[in-house]
Parts: sequence; C-alpha cells; structure tokens
Amino acid sequence: EQVATDSLHVIDTQCPFCSVQCKMQVIEDRSASDGKSVYSVVPKPNQASEGRLCIKGMNAYQHVLTGERLLHPMVKRNGRFERMTWDDAYELIVSKFNNLREAYGNHTVGLYGGGSLTNESAYVLGKFARVALQTKYIDYNGRFCMSAAASAGVKVFGIDRGLTNQLSDIELAECIILAGTNIAECQPTLMPYFTRAKEKGAILIAIDPRETGTTRISDIHLRVKPGMDATLANGMLKVLLEEGCLDEEFVANRTTGFMELKAHLDSLDMEEIAHLTGVPSQLIRKAALSYGKAQTGMVFTARGVEQQTDGHMAVRNFLNLVLLTGKIGKPGCGYGAVTGQGNGQGGREHGQKADQLPGYRLIENPEDRAYVANVWGIDPSELPGKGVSAYEMMEKVHEQEIRALFVMGSNPLVSNPNANFVEEGLKKLDFLVVADFLNSETAQLADLILPVTAYLENGGTLTNLEGRVLLRKSGRPAPGEAKHDWQVLCELAEKLGRGEFFPFGQVEDVFNELRLASRGGTADYYGITYERLRKEEGVYWPCPEESHPGAKRLFESTFPLPAGRALLTTVENHLPKEQTSEDFPLYLTTGRVLVHYLTGVQTRKSPSLAARDVESFMEIHPRTAKKHHIEDATLVKLTSKRGEIYVRSRYSDAIREDTVFVPMHWGDTQNVNKLTNDALDPTCKMPGFKVCAVQVSPLVTE
Ligand code: SF4
Repeated sequence: EQVATDSLHVIDTQCPFCSVQCKMQVIEDRSASDGKSVYSVVPKPNQASEGRLCIKGMNAYQHVLTGERLLHPMVKRNGRFERMTWDDAYELIVSKFNNLREAYGNHTVGLYGGGSLTNESAYVLGKFARVALQTKYIDYNGRFCMSAAASAGVKVFGIDRGLTNQLSDIELAECIILAGTNIAECQPTLMPYFTRAKEKGAILIAIDPRETGTTRISDIHLRVKPGMDATLANGMLKVLLEEGCLDEEFVANRTTGFMELKAHLDSLDMEEIAHLTGVPSQLIRKAALSYGKAQTGMVFTARGVEQQTDGHMAVRNFLNLVLLTGKIGKPGCGYGAVTGQGNGQGGREHGQKADQLPGYRLIENPEDRAYVANVWGIDPSELPGKGVSAYEMMEKVHEQEIRALFVMGSNPLVSNPNANFVEEGLKKLDFLVVADFLNSETAQLADLILPVTAYLENGGTLTNLEGRVLLRKSGRPAPGEAKHDWQVLCELAEKLGRGEFFPFGQVEDVFNELRLASRGGTADYYGITYERLRKEEGVYWPCPEESHPGAKRLFESTFPLPAGRALLTTVENHLPKEQTSEDFPLYLTTGRVLVHYLTGVQTRKSPSLAARDVESFMEIHPRTAKKHHIEDATLVKLTSKRGEIYVRSRYSDAIREDTVFVPMHWGDTQNVNKLTNDALDPTCKMPGFKVCAVQVSPLVTE
C-alpha cells in the first residue's frame, strides 16, 4: 500500500465499474515542476478481488478527472445550455413540478434511478419520491440488470441475494455452471476463483451462444440458441431425473413441488429440446451428468439467461438444478446471480424499485408500509402505491401520464429497449431534469442538468455481489459546484417544503436511518454500522444486530418460506417473443466488451479505455457474412422492426451462424437498443434484450 507524503495524495477507494467492487488506491503525484499532477493506480489487498484490478479499474480515475465533467447547474434556453445557480435551479424544479402536480396530480412526476448510486443515495431517492413528491412513479435501470434473478430468488428461496455464499466457496466446487455470464469480460478479477477450481479438478460448463473469454476456459460449452436457456435447463433436469442424480433427502425434506416438476419433465422429449436449443442431446447429457454426479457444485446466471421475455422462469429453472441436487447451503455449493452494475446488489434493496420499500419491504404489504411510514414519521396512508417498471415508465412518458422526469445516475435514452420510442417520449416531456457528472445522451436532451459528484468524491456504502456491504471513503473535494446525489435530493426536499423528513447532515446520518428502515426486513442492515465498516472488511447482510457477524452462507438449514422449504418450479419450453423471418433472418444478441461499462458514458470518457474499443461493432460468422454480402471490417446497416443502426462488421467464427452480436455501450447511430425488443417478462418486467430478429446489409455509400 502506498503511504501519503507531502507530494503524494493517496485516495483509498474502490472501483465503480462492477459488482466485485475491487479495492484500489488512486495516487496523485504533485511533485512535477510544471505543477501538473500525475496519477497512478495500485490494487489494494482485499478479500473479494484478492488484490487484483482489471483494465477498467486501472483506468477508472480518468473519467473523473476529465475536463468534460459537469461542474455547474445548466438550463437549456433556445436549444443551448446556460449556467444557472443552484438556488435558481431548485426554484425552477419546484415551480415546474408543483405546477404540473397541481394540474395533473402527484403521479405526473416520475423518478428514474440507477444501480451505480450508493446505498445512501438510492435510499434517499426512494424516500424523496414517496415523501417529498408523493409519486408512485419511481424505478431504476437495475430493472434491466437484476430483476429476473431477484424475482426468481425471492420466489424460490425467499431471499434475493446475488451470491448465496462467499466467493471463496467457488474453488471448493467440483462442477460449476456459468449460464449466460461472461465473467472474463464483465468481472475479470473473479476469473482466478474459477481457474483455481479447475486446477483442483472442477468441471466448468459454459452456456452462451458465443465463444468468449469465459467459455474458452470451460470444459463443456453449450452454444445455445439465443433465448432458449430455460429449455436447455429442462433438458439437463430431465437427464438428472432419469439418471437418478437427485439428492432425494434434500428434495423430500427441504423443497416443495417435486411431483409436478417430475411429471412435467417426464412429458418432455429430449430430441425436441436438442432441436429447440441447437445443442446436441449428448452434450446436454454430458453437462447434466457432470453437475449431477459432482459432490459439490455452483450455478451462476447473468444477463444472458435473465434478459429474456421469460427471464424470471429461466432463472427458476436453473435454480431447479441447484435444488434437485441439494447443492446449496454447504461449502462449495450455491447459486450466484452475477450482478453487473457497481451497486447492482445494494441499489435494489433500499426502495428505488417501483414495488419495494427499504430492506426489500413490499410497498403493497400493509405491515411493511406501516413500519417504514413510522420510521419516516408519516402516516401510512400518505405513502403512494406501487408504480411501474423502468420501461413501462417510458410508456407512461409517451402517453404523457408522466410529464416531468427526474433522472439520477442513469442514461435511459441508451439503456432502454426500443430506443427510438423512448427518445420520442422523452422529447414530449414538459420538464426533464438529469443529475449526472458527465454529459450523457439523456442529459443532452434535458431541460436542466444538475452536476453531481463521482466515485472519488462521493463517499458512502455499496454492496457487492456477495451481499457484502463495503464503505467507500470520499477522497477528493467536489469539483466546481457539484454536490452529492443524496445532498441534492435533501436540499430539493427542503425547497418543496418537506425538508423536515430529510434531516441528514452527512452521509452516515442517511445510513443510520437506512439501517432502521431495513430492520427486520429481508435485507436487514441494522447491525451494520460505519464504525464496523471502518474496521471490518465489509459485513454481509442479513445482519440484524451489531453483535451479529453477518450471514456469509445462506440456507444452511432452512429457507425463509412456508415450512422452511424452497420451491421447485415447472417451466415450459418457452420461445422468445420475436422470431426470425424472411425479412429479419438473423437473431441479434447484445452484451458487453471488456473495457466498457453500461452505456459507456464513463468509459468512453477514459482515454485509455476508449482507445481499446473506440466504436461499436457487429460480430458475425464469416459464412453468414458471405450470404449477406458483408465484407470484414466494413460498415453495415442493421435493421429490426423498431429501427436501424450502423456499425462495423467483425468476422468471427466464435458466434453461431444464425446470430449476430452487437455490444451495448454506444449511443446515437450505434445504439443497439434502437433494435432490441421491448416485449417484457410478465413477472419481473425485464425486456427481452438478448433476442430480437434483424436484417443486415452492407452500407452502400455513393
Ligand atoms: Fe474490479 Fe469490476 Fe472494477 Fe474490474 S470493473 S477492477 S473487476 S470492480
């Protein structure tokens, strides 16, 4: 570890770019004679990433220190942004919001949050919606990240926590299923956990339509057709059943639903499953037996399985694998939903979801409402009801049921499916406010931009993919006139006449109220204090008392469901909502690349990262490309029923011949979400990002 000196300023922090939350030091050397600071980064020893950083973490300081930071409130007048004071900005928001609320009611204002906000900012945003504005319309971009796994976890296990156990359990597993997760590019510092497991003899099974850095270390790669993951899991379950690879005692004593599941699996035809999934039945069988016969094993899912129009049920089918074999609640056994966003776990626990209050309490449950209302000092009848999911909010914007939108830490113009429709809606708004620290595509559409702090300046807690709560210190003063997200909301609440409910002088005050609001809830933070977090290397929730060590491994003896039993689920062989056709003959699937994060607003502003992948691309199999007259490395037009984009072709035999891949990190004419399907999963409202039908053609220029 580097120690600070007169000329070295050392910031102890953690990477903002994924859910591992790797610890690091950003070192500012002020000794140069020209007065310019030189920055460097070193990884810091810690339990989660074991002292590793990936290329994103090594360069994460660059976007914070870029000259393109938003430094002052800016109002748009005659199509141009002009500086404004904070007082005038607040006055403008209050008058716009109040006029609209008087004319159309409280629900005319919507709030749209993000999974990269700290726990404290997410908590204040949820409270601000319900208490300061009394609107039901709040949701966040995590809807596109974790909603399928979260809803499946609650239904099947009774709790939604990313990993049911610690990362250190991975290397104890004899078999690991990585379903729709590209850890090598999305959470690279986790890879040694898997390679160590392999060195000890574990079999790795990867499920992905593409070959990736993750599938390349696997022993078995099931190159599934996009959208057919749930059906593939049915095939594996059928093999487990037929070959007797069940933990009968576990199934009998700790689950419900077995007989229904068995009858369903008995009725399925293995060759039909092979046909639907594009995976030979022998390979399905080999994978199933590898997992079923192993003494220990873990299953991981991520967006490949979850961003489907049956994402909720697809995850539940992978949880069936875990439960039928009893591989949970003991060393080397468990399930993990590999969260993408920096605070993808904590961001979904504290009330910025349409249906939830802090601690995962439910906004429609009278007892939960009464408890949180009491903590907040309001009458339960004042709490609005359940709103709608993130994309459904965009529909409400389109219908002008929502006429003002406050966006915090998110870029919905690029991250929502059917982006042309979303853009039309956002342009209809009477008033769009965006709080951000960089000028995102959504900010450029705003009527008012509020500058907020970035990770080096903004202290608070974040919860990593293990459910481990970590304290991030503030290491630099806010630049320009930027303020912390939670601070903006508290000041605005004051201007709206609701300041008495937001008495937070510092971020720790927010956390202390969050602890109380979550007490007794599923995600119970009550026993976690800043004092503990300063001394311990993170504390796992649930942690109901300060003397409680935190729950490192869940479900060792029971599930928090009736009779303590987890739920086995019957899952149909579901087809994606959009199929290929003569006009749109190829599947499109989307995902990440190593150097970029989410919609790329931050990583595209880091010169070292942007230089690695400066533009988007379309990965296509050379044989498919030939059929469509596409040369390698040339500009192509991709069209779906909803729009068109222009990207460069990249030949690769790593992809199925019926599928093309485009990453999700660019906006404007390269925004792949102009093409993606806005059909939603009926339970969790996850859009079907991972499959739509497209046509590709060379871009002919005169
Ligand atoms: Fe660690 Fe994720 Fe940041 Fe990479 S992106 S350094 S894996 S937190």
